[in-house]
Amino acid sequence: MIPQTADHAADLTAPHQPEQWSSRERNLAALFTAILTRGPISRRDAARVIGMSQAAVTKLVKPMIAGGYVTEQEGYSEGPGRPLIPLIIDARRHNAVGVKVTGGELIGVVVDLHAEVLQSRRAPLADARPQKVVESVAELTRELLGSTADGESGTVGVGVGLGGHVDGRRGVVRFSPMLEDWRDVPLQRMLADELHLPVLIENDVNTLAVAEQWFGAGRDTSSFAVVTVGAGVGGAIVIDDQLLHGASGAAGEFGHNIVDPRGPLCHCGKRGCIEAFASDEAIVRAIGERRGRLPGSLAEAVQIAHGGDPVARQVFIEAGRALGQGLAGLVNLLNPPVVILSGEGISASDLIIDALNEELTRSSFSSAGRDCRLVVRPLPDETWARGAAATMLRHGVLRSLMTLTGEIPV
Ligand SMILES: [Zn+2]
Repeated sequence: MIPQTADHAADLTAPHQPEQWSSRERNLAALFTAILTRGPISRRDAARVIGMSQAAVTKLVKPMIAGGYVTEQEGYSEGPGRPLIPLIIDARRHNAVGVKVTGGELIGVVVDLHAEVLQSRRAPLADARPQKVVESVAELTRELLGSTADGESGTVGVGVGLGGHVDGRRGVVRFSPMLEDWRDVPLQRMLADELHLPVLIENDVNTLAVAEQWFGAGRDTSSFAVVTVGAGVGGAIVIDDQLLHGASGAAGEFGHNIVDPRGPLCHCGKRGCIEAFASDEAIVRAIGERRGRLPGSLAEAVQIAHGGDPVARQVFIEAGRALGQGLAGLVNLLNPPVVILSGEGISASDLIIDALNEELTRSSFSSAGRDCRLVVRPLPDETWARGAAATMLRHGVLRSLMTLTGEIPV
């Protein structure tokens, strides 16, 4: 069990991200992920999936079993030779908390080691100043762990996802326009000091990408991108199984690519970003300006467009074009086989998808646009929080596994 001391929390103030992992950490993470996401799986098949020798897998699995992370199921035979023994991760070994922070609400979950949600809770966020947010996240975390068997003693820590420029490696929110213009807030340190638990912070779309990588539409591909449409327009990129962070965590900030320098003003201070055309607020505002009456919400805007109003329909088409143009830039750079479109605004996908596809095909190089499979995934809010918890699980479990397997060369 991981010791729950203040020193341990402080120790995690600057967790290193996957791109900084040693080859040993990569192998351990790959093996753990293979058993987690594909289990029950035999040592032979796990070795095939991650490209390691069966002997190396056998050596690494031994301390994982001794440490209670992996259990063996009843063996079976596939012809002559020793029977194959399926391995699974023991879901009860640890839990992790995940919290998604939005401008007005916290969405929290506690998950088991399979990242299955054990408890979920929401709390309004009345005050978005940093210290108040820390206190609210800490309170929600205590409630979630208090209502879970083995709560705090079994937890690997708390993962927090939020929109904006989040430098997870340094534990600092560089800029978050949704949270009263936060700048350079050392959120990880503040929350770790409050809770005395390991804390990890990450851009919220990146946490969603981790959830999709483990359990969703990113499971069977080593490279994919996630684009989310809602209060903002966000992005995350996974290439060769690695989530891209870039120099300071801003990689994948898809929504702030400029598609029209004379376009509408964006939250970020610039003009004509994709977000300034396609976010919920941008769509509602554009319909209000052109029709002379502001819809009360995106849902109402969708209703007006579904009712056949040509002005409202045109606004959605322009949002689709902006997204398509942005996606063309993304596929030209990265040529991903899959792009997952998600977020609460994707409920209006039928109004934007044709314009999006048309623009994507028109603006992308050669067949890059057609080579890319667009997957529209309306995901519940809890999935974001689950992703934040999964990000913490991956980090916390890897630390434990590194200690457990310390003597084994890999
Ligand atoms: Zn912008």
